[in-house]
Amino acid sequence: MQNKIFALQELSKNLWWSWDTEAKQIFEELSPLLWERNNHNPIDLLHQISDNELLARSNSKFGEKIDRAYARFQAYLTEKNTWAANNTPELVKNPVAYFSAEFGIHESMRIYSGGLGVLAGDHLKSASDLGINFIGITLFYREGYFRQHLNHDGWQIEDYPLQHPENLPLEKVTNPDGGDLIISVNIAQSDVFAQVWKLKVGRATLYLLDSNTMANESHYRDICCRVYGGDQNMRINQEILLGIGGVKLLSQLGIKPTVYHMNEGHSAFLTLELLAKELASGVSEKEAIENVRSQCVFTTHTPVPAGHDRFSRDMMHYTFDKYLANSGMSFDNMMLLGSEDKKNIHGLFTMTVLALNLSRSANGVSKLHGEVSRTMWQHLFPTNTVNEVPIGHITNGVHTSTWACGYTESFWRNFTENIDDMTLTQEATEAVLAQITDEDLWSLRYNLKRHLFDFIDKYLANQLFHQHQHLSLYQNDYFSIQSVNNTLSADVLTIGFARRFATYKRAPLIFRDLERLNRIINHPSRPLQIVFAGKAHPHDDAGKDYIRQIVDHARRPQFAGKVIFLENYNLGVAKRMVSGVDVWLNTPVRPMEASGTSGEKNVLHGGLNFSVLDGWWPEAYNGENGFSIGNGESFENHEEQDSFDAEQMYAALETQIIPAFYDRNENNIPVQWIKKIRNAIATIAPEYNTHRMVRDYATRYYVKH
Ligand SMILES: *Cc1c(COP(=O)(O)O)cnc(C)c1O
Repeated sequence: MQNKIFALQELSKNLWWSWDTEAKQIFEELSPLLWERNNHNPIDLLHQISDNELLARSNSKFGEKIDRAYARFQAYLTEKNTWAANNTPELVKNPVAYFSAEFGIHESMRIYSGGLGVLAGDHLKSASDLGINFIGITLFYREGYFRQHLNHDGWQIEDYPLQHPENLPLEKVTNPDGGDLIISVNIAQSDVFAQVWKLKVGRATLYLLDSNTMANESHYRDICCRVYGGDQNMRINQEILLGIGGVKLLSQLGIKPTVYHMNEGHSAFLTLELLAKELASGVSEKEAIENVRSQCVFTTHTPVPAGHDRFSRDMMHYTFDKYLANSGMSFDNMMLLGSEDKKNIHGLFTMTVLALNLSRSANGVSKLHGEVSRTMWQHLFPTNTVNEVPIGHITNGVHTSTWACGYTESFWRNFTENIDDMTLTQEATEAVLAQITDEDLWSLRYNLKRHLFDFIDKYLANQLFHQHQHLSLYQNDYFSIQSVNNTLSADVLTIGFARRFATYKRAPLIFRDLERLNRIINHPSRPLQIVFAGKAHPHDDAGKDYIRQIVDHARRPQFAGKVIFLENYNLGVAKRMVSGVDVWLNTPVRPMEASGTSGEKNVLHGGLNFSVLDGWWPEAYNGENGFSIGNGESFENHEEQDSFDAEQMYAALETQIIPAFYDRNENNIPVQWIKKIRNAIATIAPEYNTHRMVRDYATRYYVKH
């Protein structure tokens, strides 16, 4: 019996449980209330349940579940017959070191802000599943990214609850003598120290550097306070700790990566530390650069010039002079590596340029983004035509078993052994779909919508209570807002829109013509409802104003109860939303969405995408597997673009989406709709997942050619 407690504890310490449905259900079953209350954190949960209770309860069928999950976990960890063993054996021997400023692995580890982090988390999980020897490097942010509340005016309020390592599956990394392993990096005139935490994610390991130790002055402790918090100075300090600190950590652990993968330019300073090591070994600067290039690959994620990190020459001087004194490199030569214009090293230092200069290969994250990136960086390669600029693309995907909710997972398991079977080939997926009736798929949709609406009902009650608890009970709007509860209907076509509220994503676009939207939403027989969620960056007042606008609209009498805004978008809320809604709306200004991944999460739940032809969508959309907004038309003028796209959106809703959803056969089945769902599953699931994506990285970029 005692060993069942041990098994539970072992399961809680490796985030493998987060993509194993049964393991997750074990924790939830222990106490559904505590599970919800502590953000689905099993370590926290186990702290609150006594051994007596655990012992007594595992003496039953429940104990068998624990045994089964634990056995599966052990088998997973020790499996030798993996994809990597059979296809890229050199990636089993030495690890890939993957550096990212954020990792979105599970909502209980708040060390991510948005899509970049979620992608890194899904990459880590797929690398583990495929058997690649894989190490992630990041920072441990004590306050993480903020928790979002809305005040009664619909204005975003940020709060930063502390994350305590003892409530997380983190283990302190120690030296052989048992003392804490400490690394140090040079920043400006100081030595900054970091302790290190280790997080197990399946077979992969994530190391988190943490400057929050008493050895540091307080402003250096704050480097590991918030994800993308602070000013430029904070940013450069975070990037030094991540890049240079990360390489130092690997050396100290005696780990020799076969390749360093920079996920976005934030970690590109790692190349400076690799250069310093090469130079210390006595090679020439030219050779040192070649040697470093041969070890690094780089993924760029930002199609907008302003989105790339740039530091002033003064800041570089201030921050790096002491470091350079011991590195064998001159300041000007360093500036040359990060200058957009090789003839002018007195301008800004650009992290993307450093990464491009010191990588053996580079890629964007969708076909379109690859093209945009080649154009954007052509000036760095003056002798190349745009097509010859050495930036390729690997389109982003999602980790299928992470994004399948329990209900969806068990649905597919009625027809195939493992939900990953749906990600292999279009033929295999079509073979599974052939066994499934339209009625099966339609009941899946109803079930998932019911799950989402039950969740929203509880969630919203809580949200509104906090939003209005300081208002007088006698104020009218308190009552009108309370009555919003429980009005979403599972019969009604439901659109979801959830993402970071960066303004280019244009969250309020659908409200451009309120009269027309009113007619659509309140159609007597074919109505529509919309669920929104999303955070604006704390410094982005324009993004916060978008949230306020939507909350305002949601309170108009004609939209109340039909337009909903859920606060605190995170991985958990995302999973609920992508599984429940019928249509996933995406309205970026093309081509500003490098890839986007949230729309890829809804596919196995029977959701359909409705998106501007941007990011991954122009590759995936075939006319029958979802809906497009426009045809990729671009206008110089913002107003014109918004009007055009809004018009296209309303027209597609009125003439394609709403009829396809509400036209029913004699058994009340929307035949056209289900046909699109089948097409989406067959064409999207096998391609837009991180197993395919990581296999592409492994064979094209990680293996040396
Ligand atoms: C998937 C996801 C994202 C990325 O979505 P986009 O399509 O890039 O907007 C961001 N945040 C969360 C919480 C997610 O789950």
